[in-house]
Amino acid sequence: MTLSSSFAALVKPNSFANLPSDFYTRLPTTPLTAPRLVHASAEVAALLGLAPEALVTQEFLDVISGTQPMPGGDTLAAVYSGHQFGVWAGQLGDGRAHLLGEIQGPNGSVELQLKGAGMTPYSRMGDGRAVLRSSVREYLASHAMRGLGIPTTQALSLVSARNPVRRETLETAAVVARTAPSFIRFGSFEHWAARRRPDLLRTLADYVIDRFYPECRDASASALGGAVKDYEPYVQLLRAVVRRTATLMAGWQVVGFCHGVMNTDNMSILGLTLDYGPYGFMDGFDAKHICNHTDSGGRYAWHAQPAVAHWNLYQLANSLHEIVPDAEPLKAALDEYEGCFLGAMQTQMSQKLGLATWQVGDETLIDDLWSLMQASHADFTLTFRQLAYAPGLTLAPLEQIERDLGATVNTNLLPFVDLFADRAGAQAWLRRYSARLGSDPTQRWQERVAGMLAVNPLYILRNHIAQQAIEAAEKGDFSEVQRQYELLRNPFAAQSGQEAYAAAPPAGAPHLEVSCSS
Ligand code: AMP
Ligand code: MG
Repeated sequence: MTLSSSFAALVKPNSFANLPSDFYTRLPTTPLTAPRLVHASAEVAALLGLAPEALVTQEFLDVISGTQPMPGGDTLAAVYSGHQFGVWAGQLGDGRAHLLGEIQGPNGSVELQLKGAGMTPYSRMGDGRAVLRSSVREYLASHAMRGLGIPTTQALSLVSARNPVRRETLETAAVVARTAPSFIRFGSFEHWAARRRPDLLRTLADYVIDRFYPECRDASASALGGAVKDYEPYVQLLRAVVRRTATLMAGWQVVGFCHGVMNTDNMSILGLTLDYGPYGFMDGFDAKHICNHTDSGGRYAWHAQPAVAHWNLYQLANSLHEIVPDAEPLKAALDEYEGCFLGAMQTQMSQKLGLATWQVGDETLIDDLWSLMQASHADFTLTFRQLAYAPGLTLAPLEQIERDLGATVNTNLLPFVDLFADRAGAQAWLRRYSARLGSDPTQRWQERVAGMLAVNPLYILRNHIAQQAIEAAEKGDFSEVQRQYELLRNPFAAQSGQEAYAAAPPAGAPHLEVSCSS
């Protein structure tokens, strides 16, 4: 597959724009003054079929800054509704997002959307803009998630411009161009259910099934036997979204990611991480960690996320009830959530701990680790990373492990036990873990350690690290965005000289408050 240097060769008819016009408003973007490229991702460009040379062309800058429409595109803002913080908010929509169109990438079609390119009919009280601070955070977070292998929308590029944008203070304007097969949300379904438009709800569900979940049309997907009801594909759609969402939640939980605003309008129908705002990757572990300053009640705290996702799926099911008259199969689909989530957690936690099999007692072992981490506020990321190297678990000295596995960075990081204020408790747990490893006899320690290092990241996008990239970018220095991009795209591979990016924030570092104001 040869890559193209222009969007023109890649753009295809925008299938979302072929839906009835009730779903969106066609409108142009509003250009910024003299936008500058902060960063563009050659990897995401390749997913669109764009060559690296394309990223330095004027056409590219014009398109991804909203200065010119995408050649062959069909620019629009989509309408949706949603529950915000558990309360029905009514109509929302792309208040500062423009879908530019659809591109035929090498692995399937991809939509390109700009965030911050001007007002739309759904802007409500907003200005249609995004600030550099939050845009750097969205840009880097989507690459961090990609590096971690967690489903996400993927940012293609980030531009900034001098246009002032008023938030608590005057800030720099920015536009993120982001990609996904679709940006349809749970709230897109809630919108038509609330308006009592089963016709449009069915149109939307059919569109999503035909494009992304064609297996839902397969009559054999019905496990119930007997005559297949005409609404069966919508039940199967819910089941598929339940499964993807449960897997996504496990993905978030095991890296300590908190989304911060899990409103139903921020929940992707494809099970992608969507709309990075006041998110946070945890430093010291606290199950009740709240990353969004606005979330005073902790509705979206780390420990609450899996249950909130279930609540959000319930809202989706409730919407689908408009076109699925029988509530029972919808309830049955929702009931699959817990098993899917726990199954995904079990798989991922056993990988994180390097357990080749799941045995009786493993759940208690893992629960006790969480309790120890909680009591000591042990660093989330380093706890799992350093467990791979915990002394006494292998006969090889640390230097040899590092030599064999090519990971020199860890000599500068605290060893596992030292991450806990309760060192004795950590030692005692380590002895139980060591005994447990002894009952995985088929596994060589080299395999276990290599497996653990491949799933437990060294680099995550800690708030204080992202802040360094923001502060440099606000001064016009984009090198820090580039450096962090490089580390986060493969967060499992230690890079020498980059120890500071792996370390927990220094004691006494100022607490950064992130909120919905972006
Ligand atoms: P969020 O909490 O970021 O998901 O935003 C909720 C809703 O508010 C979405 O419909 C956004 O498009 C809209 N919104 C947020 N910020 C702005 C802004 N600056 N201008 C216009 N709409 C916005
Ligand atoms: Mg949103």
